[in-house]
Formats: sequence, structure tokens, C-alpha cells
Amino acid sequence: MKGAARLRVGLTGGIGSGKSAAADLFAAHGAVIVDADVIAHELTSSGGAAMPALVEAFGPDIRDNTGALDRAAMRQRAFADPEARALLESILHPRIGSVMRQAAAERPGDYLVLVVPLLVEHLDRWRPQIDRLCVVDCPPEVQLARVQARSGLAAEMIEAIMSTQATRAQRLAVADDVLDNRGDREHLSRQVDALHARYRSFVHKN
Ligand code: ADP
Repeated sequence: MKGAARLRVGLTGGIGSGKSAAADLFAAHGAVIVDADVIAHELTSSGGAAMPALVEAFGPDIRDNTGALDRAAMRQRAFADPEARALLESILHPRIGSVMRQAAAERPGDYLVLVVPLLVEHLDRWRPQIDRLCVVDCPPEVQLARVQARSGLAAEMIEAIMSTQATRAQRLAVADDVLDNRGDREHLSRQVDALHARYRSFVHKN
């Protein structure tokens, strides 16, 4: 991506903050979306490129009966044990980063939205790869309620995940742009419209 004459927006936020919802709205405006979660799913699907390393690190039981990563089992291990989490991240993050760079390079378009859940947690690595850092923001209780409604995960598990992520204040402190997702979808959509217009104006100034 380095040297590319297009605007690169890093879109981040805590679990359930509304990253995917915001990315869908940017996509409707024609932005190119490259989503770290989607790539993580591909890498850990049956036959996915990260599976051999994951099996070597965590044993064959880390697969479900289709051969894909057993996400619930992996989540339990990763959030109960910081070393397991670090090992998981050391396997997945470099692979996600390289597939994202490749996907971004292959897809034309004058601005690119990189959706990265842990962007602020790994700011040193990501900052050189983006021009704008956009945070989707809402209070933790809204995140919790939305994730529960989306996935049925137990509140304790969601809180455990949130406790490993950057805080709301840490994200806001480094944001160039903020999407306030406390309100309804219409409220989010209006803000994405405005930000999209702004990003387009940056692109056309270049
Ligand atoms: P993330 O990608 O940050 O984890 P999502 O975009 O998946 O978050 O949003 C979490 C859940 O909340 C999803 O089920 C989504 O449809 C829903 N959601 C997102 N934004 C809103 C909103 N403004 N109003 C109502 N529900 C929302």
C-alpha cells in the first residue's frame, strides 16, 4: 500500500461498536473495504492458510469436525490465558496483515477502508499504513447489548473480550474522525454520508 496515491482509512472500534455496520455504509458509497475479520475467518476456515500453524501450536483439538478453527474453544483458551492469546495473535496478525496488503493492492478505487478491530492496540504497526484513523464509538453497555443480541455470547465472555481491548478513551485520543454510534442506524448513516464527502474531497485534492 505504501506510496499508493489513494486515501487509506483505518476503521476501528471495540467489539460490537458498529465497525461492520459502518463499513457496509462506506461500501454503499463505493469505498473499497478490506476487513481483517473477514480475512481472519478465511485464514481459519477448513484448509485455511493459518490452520497448520494453529494445529501445531494448540493441537488437533482446536479444529471442529469440519476442519475449521473451533472458534468457541479458541476464544475460551485465548481469553483464559494471556500466553495462548499472544501465541494466537502471533500466528494470525502477520498473516492477516499480509493478506490485507495484498487485497488492498489488487483492488482499484480511490479510497480504501481497512476495518481493523485491534488497530489502536497495535497502533505502531498500523499507523504507517493508513492516512486517517476513524473510530466507531459507543458506550460499553451499548456494545455489550448489541453483541449479546448479535451472537448470544455470555455477558462474562463479552466483558472478558472488552477488557483485553483498548478503552473508549484510548481510541478517541488517537482518532482523526469519530462516528458516534450511540443512536440508531439512520444517525450512523448520516455521519457516514458526511465523512464520505469529506474523504472524497481529500482524494480530489491529491
Ligand atoms: P462490530 O463490527 O464493531 O463488532 P457490528 O457492526 O457487527 O459491530 O454491530 C454489532 C451489532 O449491532 C450488529 O448486530 C449490528 O447489526 C448492530 N448495530 C450496529 N449499529 C447499530 C445501530 N446504530 N443501531 C442498532 N443496531 C446496530
